[in-house]
Amino acid sequence: MNDAPPKPPRLVSCPTCGKPVPWTPESRWRPFCSERCKLIDLGAWADERYRLSSDEKTPPESGNESQ
Ligand SMILES: [Zn+2]
Repeated sequence: MNDAPPKPPRLVSCPTCGKPVPWTPESRWRPFCSERCKLIDLGAWADERYRLSSDEKTPPESGNESQ
């Protein structure tokens, strides 16, 4: 009786480039649109961690107060 149209796949936004990615088993790299975007995101994470740890190494420079 009721001809319900097939539901469109749920779309998610690729965290790297913002492109809509259908949430289906065929989207192998979801939530990323491609392997490339996934690798870029992982690289950004690694870069951030690296920066954080190297930031800790900065020695506090003080003792510029002389009268
Ligand atoms: Zn992407």
